[in-house]
Amino acid sequence: MREIDLHVHTNISDGSETPENTVRYAKELGLKAIAITDHDNVGGIAAAKTAGEKYGLEIVGGLELGCGWYGKEVHMLAYDFDPCNKWLRATLGWIITDRNERNEKMAKLISADGIRIDLAELEERHKGSSIGRPHFALCLVEAGVARDVQDAFKRFLDPGCKYYIRRNFLTIEEAAETIRGAGGKPVIAHPGQYKLTEERMTELMQRAEKCGVAGLECYYSGYGEQQVAEYLARAKEYGLCATAGSDWHGKHKPHIQLGSGIKGELCAPYELLQKLREHD
Ligand code: AMP
Ligand code: FE
Ligand code: FE
Ligand code: ZN
Repeated sequence: MREIDLHVHTNISDGSETPENTVRYAKELGLKAIAITDHDNVGGIAAAKTAGEKYGLEIVGGLELGCGWYGKEVHMLAYDFDPCNKWLRATLGWIITDRNERNEKMAKLISADGIRIDLAELEERHKGSSIGRPHFALCLVEAGVARDVQDAFKRFLDPGCKYYIRRNFLTIEEAAETIRGAGGKPVIAHPGQYKLTEERMTELMQRAEKCGVAGLECYYSGYGEQQVAEYLARAKEYGLCATAGSDWHGKHKPHIQLGSGIKGELCAPYELLQKLREHD
């Protein structure tokens, strides 16, 4: 039964659609519940909940945080926290400040190459959103130096590329503590995206279990049956709930479909959300 999607981005971060349109679309698709999980930003949750009441769809308040992991990033999703929690707010404030400082440095690098990039205009155009590399990617496409967003990342914005500047990150322990402190459930996102060795994956699971992570996103866009089975086994071993999310970004990642993934491989029952909520 295709009932839920627990990983959805709106234009409050790097998705293309407003929270309201996202909720309406999810309803049209026949979903029962979706979680709004914008990067570093809880600003879309209230509008999504209002739309959820209007259209008759359950909205789970969510968030996605980047955590440092051996020079790379591991993403942590958060669910059902108090979005007004002071400590959470302070942490998000710190992340946004750090992100903005990084953005300024990146904009300078790009401008130095004669590519016009106006950060103030970008912020004005995406008011209330977390600005990040995806927005820079769109600028590079508009400037005609990249074919599309993927091309912009591959040639200019991925780690090691000319315009990449690393942000500062929370540790997974800090992120989990912040989420739990706000009454929420931390979940490790898309385990297959990090290309971890067996040893590092085991370390991630052990540290996740120790710091009170509640779930592992075992079902994710593009993951095959065997891969899912591997993550389900990991989740079971470390007492984590299995969750499911498409990581939908609307038009900005057009190959991903809300609720169903890339080739319909996602088909998550409501029960997964219930179990996550029961996890202590
Ligand atoms: P930032 O946090 O500003 O460094 O940007 C990171 C975000 O960029 C990620 O969370 C993704 O949503 C997006 N991103 C990273 N790599 C790619 C890629 N190759 N193609 C499209 N989006 C990407
Ligand atoms: Fe994203
Ligand atoms: Fe992510
Ligand atoms: Zn995401």
